[in-house]
Amino acid sequence: MTPLPTHAEYDVAVIGGGPGGAALTTLLARQGHRCVLFEQARFPIKHVGESLVPQTYDFLERLGVLPQLRALAFPAKHCVRFVSPDGQASIPFQFAENLAGERAQTWQVERSQFDCLLLNHARANGVEVQEQTAVAQVLFEGGQAVGVQAVSPHGEAMTIRTRVVVDASGRACLLGRQLGVWAPLQDLRKAAIWTHYRGAPAPVNGSGHETTIFRTAGGGWFWHVPQPDQIVSVGLVASPDDLFANSDDIEAAFNREFARCAGLRTRLTGASRFGPLRGLRHLAYLNRQTCGAGWVMIGDARAFLDPIYSSGIYLALASAELAAGSIHEALRTGDVSGPALGVFEPALTQGLDVLRRLIHAFYDPQFSFPEFLRQFPDQRAALVDCLIGDVLKDLSGFTEALAKMTPPPAPLGELPRAA
Ligand SMILES: Cc1cc2nc3c(=O)[nH]c(=O)nc-3n(C[C@H](O)[C@H](O)[C@H](O)COP(=O)(O)OP(=O)(O)OC[C@H]3O[C@@H](n4cnc5c(N)ncnc54)[C@H](O)[C@@H]3O)c2cc1C
Repeated sequence: MTPLPTHAEYDVAVIGGGPGGAALTTLLARQGHRCVLFEQARFPIKHVGESLVPQTYDFLERLGVLPQLRALAFPAKHCVRFVSPDGQASIPFQFAENLAGERAQTWQVERSQFDCLLLNHARANGVEVQEQTAVAQVLFEGGQAVGVQAVSPHGEAMTIRTRVVVDASGRACLLGRQLGVWAPLQDLRKAAIWTHYRGAPAPVNGSGHETTIFRTAGGGWFWHVPQPDQIVSVGLVASPDDLFANSDDIEAAFNREFARCAGLRTRLTGASRFGPLRGLRHLAYLNRQTCGAGWVMIGDARAFLDPIYSSGIYLALASAELAAGSIHEALRTGDVSGPALGVFEPALTQGLDVLRRLIHAFYDPQFSFPEFLRQFPDQRAALVDCLIGDVLKDLSGFTEALAKMTPPPAPLGELPRAA
């Protein structure tokens, strides 16, 4: 094993150059911390998850990337609409109900460009980005993370010592798996299959500016997310038991559900599928421990629930900013203990819990959003806040109202945590 040739030591090593890792290192480097980021791939790379929520706006503004983002001219997203299995479309939930100006819209991004923008921005802010360099493991001494072992593009193993290690490795969950704290979430067992269509007809009734959720008769749903150049991202989320009851063939499963979804078929009249179908059998998981002495997890490396409310990138950016704050303070005071690094965890877990409650409500066949709003019209603003992604605040009135119509799952914070 050879040491990394450039710096002998860094303050922070980050595993993964997705939105979470790029945002966190940008913020820390700006505060003068020496950051090295290891990304196993060479960007640009394809990534699922193209629909932002408006709550990302403030993070992107603080990162300083809004001018570049505007220049990429991604389609704007103003609202979310739900379409029932029989084709009845809800009145769209407009973000402008709660927000004003440019903050009331967001973007449907092409991920390889969006992710490159954030990673290049990290570089421009002084982060040492090492692409094509996979981290093999986090190194521990006496229970404290002290660095990482990575493999260079030439296949050489390197040892890098740091004061703090951040796992931003996305669904790979490198550290969670290494420590044995990763666990699937059994109460949200969903699979996903996604692809793209080209040549979609011109949008009608403002539907070019929305994410449309087409519910399927079997309890699943399709997303319809407009992309640039008349391309549409389309994905199916449903129980793996239903999708793969007869065979593991994702092509057969996708085609069968697509054929059954009249609303989506109509919306895509004249469009043709291109590119491969991609799929994931199990979407939801968490880590029973998300911070410890010298280490912290952010973004998908921390937890992933469900794509229904397009909250993944927002949660990656939010956890990155919160962790950047706690890491800055830990480095300043010299206290890199788990409690110091994870000081933001209760607030983040509470926000995740709100989303999880709303995800459970969505999949509860006895629950209906129109009925909920008929019974609790005063909760409409809170519901739109959740669709905006504004969940890191007290929403107890909303969740109490929700509990009157759909049983709440056990809070995430009450799940057993690793020692
Ligand atoms: C089906 C589906 C649909 C989704 N739809 C949406 C959506 O519409 N909107 C939304 O906001 N979110 C969506 N998401 C979630 C969103 O894609 C993620 O939440 C987001 O990408 C998380 O960012 P991240 O930085 O935490 O992880 P990632 O973006 O996954 O980045 C992790 C990076 O780490 C790198 N890496 C992994 N292992 C290593 C290693 N050992 N060494 C070095 N590098 C490593 C990877 O190459 C990758 O670049 C969706 C997710 C799924 C599964």
